[in-house]
Amino acid sequence: MPLRLDPADHTLPEMEEILAAWGHPRFRARQLLKWVYKGAAEWDAMTDLAKGLRQELAAKLTLAGPALELTQESRDGTRKCRWRLADGEAIESVLIPEGDHLTLCLSSQAGCAQGCRFCLTALGGFRRNLTPGEIVRQVLALRPLLPDTPPLTNLVFMGMGEPLANFAALVKAVRILQAPWGLHFSRRRVTVSTVGLAPLIPRLGEEVPVNLTVSLNAVDDATRSALMPVNDRYPLKEVLAACRKFPLPPHRRITFAYVLLHGVNDSPAEARELVRLLRGFRAKVNLIPFNPHPRLPFAAPRPERVAAFREIIHRAHLPVFIRESRGADIAAACGQLAVEPA
Ligand code: SF4
Repeated sequence: MPLRLDPADHTLPEMEEILAAWGHPRFRARQLLKWVYKGAAEWDAMTDLAKGLRQELAAKLTLAGPALELTQESRDGTRKCRWRLADGEAIESVLIPEGDHLTLCLSSQAGCAQGCRFCLTALGGFRRNLTPGEIVRQVLALRPLLPDTPPLTNLVFMGMGEPLANFAALVKAVRILQAPWGLHFSRRRVTVSTVGLAPLIPRLGEEVPVNLTVSLNAVDDATRSALMPVNDRYPLKEVLAACRKFPLPPHRRITFAYVLLHGVNDSPAEARELVRLLRGFRAKVNLIPFNPHPRLPFAAPRPERVAAFREIIHRAHLPVFIRESRGADIAAACGQLAVEPA
């Protein structure tokens, strides 16, 4: 049997083209995608499509997505979901309760090629890019399993992989996630986090309306290169220049994430340098005290260093938040998605 297409891999205009090529009116695409994004798992559920058409579509398209294999719940309510993809690869996404809403942290690649030294995902290396459908279906498959409250309103691309290294699929997935004919998430509530693939940062903002988070983690190139090999290709100055070109909507800020590692990048002098680097930006800073793991060669920063670092940024009138990693007990915290045995 020839490979069947996944409708969740395609935008509405693309689906219209596909159906037109199969000899059907374009409006059928909207009808079809309405069912797909309602989460229909059976063709027979699509009652406004004639039986013959449903049979034809069932032969040419698939409604099956990644299989949900395991969910683990942390003491803090964070849930890690593991997905098995059609070719056997595994990825993870993380559901995080935050006050009155849920945030879902999505993976964009199976594994990751960026090699950040503080990240467990990096140790497994890169396996492959996800398709747009594999990204979208992490949301689509989970949604019906969730209670109505708190609602799932926020999506963040901070799971496995570097989203900008899978640029075309990311952009298409975001379009589907935000479109009224798709999953209709608010454009203010979709965030893409990058290690700083500089040339793609302004392009991302030109293609799709998303919030941008840039993972800085150091204030000088030597330290940053030691932590993040990507810095050899795109040093700090280039990353910050690219951020200046990001088309930031009014009243919005770029988030700069900074993982605090004991004795590596957590000194008051580094906090002051961070303030200097961010001068002129509409920025906010997320400080993430490192979550120790036996396979990673770093220690958690001391609480008083974290507090001092935060205070220096706060005094410079930059919004600054300490993001305690969530779900550390189930390896769902930042940089801990590695598809380890349960
Ligand atoms: S921190 Fe992100 S970009 Fe870096 S290796 Fe881990 S998953 Fe990849």
